[in-house]
Amino acid sequence: MTPTQTFAPPARASTLDLIGNTPLVLLKGPSEAAGCEIWGKCEFANPGASVKDRAALWIVRDAEEKGLLKPGGTIVEGTAGNTGIGIALVANALGYKTIIVMPETQSREKMDTLRALGAELVLVPAAPFSNPGHFVHTSRRLAEETEGAIWANQFDNIANRKAHIESTAPEIWEQMGGRIDGFTCAAGTGGTIAGTGMGLKAFDEGITIALTDPYGAALYNYYANGELKAEGNSVAEGIGQGRITANLEGAPVDTQFRISDEEGLEWVTRLLSEEGLCLGLSSGINVAGAVALGRQLVAEGKTQVRVATILCDTGFRYLSTLYNADWLRGKGLPVFPWLAK
Ligand code: PMP
Repeated sequence: MTPTQTFAPPARASTLDLIGNTPLVLLKGPSEAAGCEIWGKCEFANPGASVKDRAALWIVRDAEEKGLLKPGGTIVEGTAGNTGIGIALVANALGYKTIIVMPETQSREKMDTLRALGAELVLVPAAPFSNPGHFVHTSRRLAEETEGAIWANQFDNIANRKAHIESTAPEIWEQMGGRIDGFTCAAGTGGTIAGTGMGLKAFDEGITIALTDPYGAALYNYYANGELKAEGNSVAEGIGQGRITANLEGAPVDTQFRISDEEGLEWVTRLLSEEGLCLGLSSGINVAGAVALGRQLVAEGKTQVRVATILCDTGFRYLSTLYNADWLRGKGLPVFPWLAK
């Protein structure tokens, strides 16, 4: 067998050093579909199994450096789940307590994982951002009312995107040997797209940064014509933004794609059945966006095009939803052939 990796990752002195430095993998099916190389950054390989471990670590370290978080303190956050899991792990490693506010529409697995990690979980009904009961506002109030607590505020705390400027982007640049033409991903807080985009542009201004938006989000229209307007909807967890968060301000977005759940799901299905990767829906949507970006760059006449995207989290987090035939049928989505029996 020909080894594809000749160096083992270096030994680490602390569990927190396990965050980041994730592998980058060439995706065969998407590369064939795009007619160029499509690479996936394996963020499911983080200790909390998602891209949000990076933001969690940077936010906590930033609060420590600013003297806001004292020994034994509490970190409060509103999250679709993955940031909470990252914060709970980082908090456990550093001796802090965690309180997580989450909409009750998120997957069972995320709730069970947060409870298992020792976080205090507060579930609230899903509500628009303008509603004071929205999980973000609820978490801010809880942080204000809790002695010795900080509010992580991942949407508007730019320590979030800094994680990607300082870690995700330089890792991708190094792993691709400085030969990268485009990068794309979807936005939840916008930390990943803005930070990775800014970080990659600092290496090479010519890299095309594309936003991949799900339906039900307003950013596609914003970057296309300046109008924050959402159309349709999506069942993807963790992505879909309706406003310009502080993390998104100044994001170097050159172009944008809008991807349906069906297109994203098709890549989730294909990556699992053809390449053995079990991913969440935001990863499938990102891969569909990367294929669209690759095709666009090839159509512009570029040769040997190489595009990178983010494989945000593990599919094991969605066994009761995305990988469950009854749930898929209930949402009117196609059922994976091997689950349909
Ligand atoms: N995918 C998943 C599964 C997520 O949980 C998140 C974070 N909300 C994202 C993508 C988007 O990342 P970001 O918040 O950096 O935009």
